[in-house]
Amino acid sequence: MPRKISRREFVRTSTAAGVAVGASTTVFAKAPAIQTNTIKPVVVASNNGNVYKNGGAEVGVQKAFNLITKGGDVLDALIAGVNLCELDPADTSVGYGGLPNADGIVQLDSCCMHGPTRRAGGVASIEGVRTPSLVAKAVLEVTDHHLLVGKGAQEFARNMGLKVEDDLNTDKSRALWLEWKRRIDPEHYLDPKKRGQAMEMASLSMVRDGLIDPDHYYGTINCDGVNSKGEVCGVTTTSGLAWKIPGRVGDSPILGAGLYVDGDVGAAGSTGRGEANLYNLCSFLIVEQMRMGKSPKDAGMEALRRIQKNTVEKRLLNPRGLPNFGINFYIVNKKGEYAGVSMYAANYAVCTENGPQTLPCEPLHPGRASE
Ligand code: ASP
Repeated sequence: MPRKISRREFVRTSTAAGVAVGASTTVFAKAPAIQTNTIKPVVVASNNGNVYKNGGAEVGVQKAFNLITKGGDVLDALIAGVNLCELDPADTSVGYGGLPNADGIVQLDSCCMHGPTRRAGGVASIEGVRTPSLVAKAVLEVTDHHLLVGKGAQEFARNMGLKVEDDLNTDKSRALWLEWKRRIDPEHYLDPKKRGQAMEMASLSMVRDGLIDPDHYYGTINCDGVNSKGEVCGVTTTSGLAWKIPGRVGDSPILGAGLYVDGDVGAAGSTGRGEANLYNLCSFLIVEQMRMGKSPKDAGMEALRRIQKNTVEKRLLNPRGLPNFGINFYIVNKKGEYAGVSMYAANYAVCTENGPQTLPCEPLHPGRASE
């Protein structure tokens, strides 16, 4: 059983979006000439894990890696890493300043899994809390449940001592939402098909006009890591699909989809079109493929092929007959082997003893999703 923490203790260790780590320092050996069982710690994440610093000195994967190698709990370290993206208003795909739903309200999803203790926690459609990953961690720590949603999740967060705000929009996210409203003609509630198309057209035109970073129409941070003892954990946190129907929950807080960790095997998590991932539960699939002996990269490619096979609706296919959306997976196994894989070209973030790096994902297909 994991150690239960009291509410007061949780608040003390978590409210500043920080984590408590032990003072001990684990110095891992340089690569030995003769193979030993030493596991090299590693943190992998979506690309934004090597971009945003929230005004500090470190990016997310670096912060997480440094805490892990100082002996901190792997999940606490990963959450401290993603907190940087959640709190940084420049990241419009996560937490504070995330692009809002169709009503202009920022609704956030997150979940986390702790490999060694086999525990998990999640929140969905939560409003007003900048760091939903900390609420997910509190669900893991102090409840017997996995997933709290909406008002209940918000009340729970308040009871845990986390700050609840009226509005998580920034001037930037609000202005982008207003522009989107203008483009879809809010006077008319179109039939679902036309409304879907109108939303797609408006969003894509905003991407084309350079108002939205293509990575942030969809956008999320998933971060997974392993320490020198082979303890593996993961966390995913997001504002979800921009302009979503209020209440829409994506893959990010759903175990097996946006994240899955098995303490004996490894971790996988995702960013990109959540519905495609939910229909195939790819993070679970990837972990199971690794359990059967596949490398992180091969396991990830299997999941991408599964998504492609099950994407049959014409509206989701590009002129080549392939999925017309991006989806990426970030994967690490218990041995510290890792990979980033994607339907089309994309980058991911890694931190090892060599420091933070942005690497290309292994793409299933050349070209772009729309081509
Ligand atoms: N997967 C997230 C969702 O569907 C969004 C994203 O990662 O871009 O909510």
